[in-house]
Amino acid sequence: MIPVNEPLILEKEMEYVNEALKTGWISSEGKFIKEFEQRFASYVNRKQGIAVDNGTNALILALRALDMPEGSEVIIPSFTIISCALACVYNNLIPVFVDSEADTWNMDISKIEEKITDKTRAIMIVHIYGHPVDADKILPIAKKHNLYVIEDFAEAIGSEYKGVRCGNLGDISCASFYANKVITTGEGGMCLTDNEELDKRLRQLKNLSFVPERRFVHYNLGFNFRMTNIQAAIGLAQTERIEESVKKKIWIGKTYNRLLKPLEEQKVIKLPVEKEWAKNTYWMYGVVLNSAPGLDAQEAMKRLAEKGIQTRPFFYPMHTQPVFEEFPWFRKESLPVSENISKYGFYLPSGLTLTEEQIVKVIKCIKEVLI
Ligand SMILES: *Cc1c(COP(=O)(O)O)cnc(C)c1O
Repeated sequence: MIPVNEPLILEKEMEYVNEALKTGWISSEGKFIKEFEQRFASYVNRKQGIAVDNGTNALILALRALDMPEGSEVIIPSFTIISCALACVYNNLIPVFVDSEADTWNMDISKIEEKITDKTRAIMIVHIYGHPVDADKILPIAKKHNLYVIEDFAEAIGSEYKGVRCGNLGDISCASFYANKVITTGEGGMCLTDNEELDKRLRQLKNLSFVPERRFVHYNLGFNFRMTNIQAAIGLAQTERIEESVKKKIWIGKTYNRLLKPLEEQKVIKLPVEKEWAKNTYWMYGVVLNSAPGLDAQEAMKRLAEKGIQTRPFFYPMHTQPVFEEFPWFRKESLPVSENISKYGFYLPSGLTLTEEQIVKVIKCIKEVLI
C-alpha cells in the first residue's frame, strides 16, 4: 500500500527529543519551545510565534484574542476543514460561508462582499492544499470594511504570494504541525503575529490566563493549549530542514503535474494550478474528476485502494455539514463550486517520503482506473 502520507522523521529529531527527555524538561517549559517559536516565526518573517497544542486550537485562540462581540460574523470559505468553523462557533461567533474558485479551490474573492453585513468583523483566509489566496484582492476588502484578517496557513507552509511567504498576512496567522503537514510535531500548532498586544494576549490565553503579577489570580477565562518541550524539540529539528521539505513537496507536485498532463488534456481530470503570482507547495496533490456518470471521487478512490493506492477525499463543504443544521444561523444555500469539487475531488499520496517509483505506480493505477 502506498500511504497518502508518511511523516519524515530523521536523526536530528531523535537527538533533540532525547535531550528534552534526559534533561527532564518535558512540559511546556524548556528551551525548545522558545527556539522553535523563534525559528519558525523568522521563517515566515513574523515577530512573534506562540506555540500551541494543535492547529484547531490555534484558530480558536486567535479568534478569542481578537475579542469580537458575541454574534459577530466571520467570513470563511465553505470548502475547508471544520476547524475554521469550530473556531467561530466556540467563540460565539457566526461563520459565514463563501463558495470556492474552480481552479485554485480557494475562497472566491468576488463572492465575499455580498456576504458582508453590519455584523461582519473578520475574514478568515485559508490557503487550500498549498495554493495561496490572492492577498492583493482580499486585503483591500478587509481594509475597506474594517475587518480583522486571520490567516490559516496550515496547508501553505512554504507557499508564497508574490514572493512573500504565507503566514505573513493579516493580524494573526495560524499554522498546524499535525503529522501530515509540511513540518510536524505530531500534534501541534502556532499563532503568529507582529502585534505586541495580541502576542501578550495569545500567550496568556493559551496558558490559563495566568498573569505575571500574581500567580493563580485570573482576570480572563483561559485555556490550556500549551505545546510540550518534547513536541517543540521535534518542531525545531523539522524547521531546520524546512527548505528541503518544501522543495520535496514542490518536486512531488511538479512530477505529478508532468505525468498527469495527458489525462488533463483528455479532459478526464483537472489538475491543481499555480497562478503566475503564486508559489504552490502542493501540500496535498489534489485532482478533480470531470463529472462523469457513475464515477465520482468515492468510486475512484475505492478502485485505487483496491490497487494499493491510498487517497483521501476533498473537504466536505461547511454549508452542508449536518452538525450545523440545528444552529439558528444556519441557512440552506447552494455554493455549487465547493459542492462540485467536494464530490469529484480527492488527493493522492503526497508525503515527504514518497519516491519517484511510487509516483509512477500511482500514475499507472490512475490510468487503469480512469481510462
Ligand atoms: C490541518 C488543518 C487545521 C487543523 O490542524 P490540527 O492541528 O489538525 O488541529 C486547520 N486548518 C487547516 C486548513 C488544516 O489543513
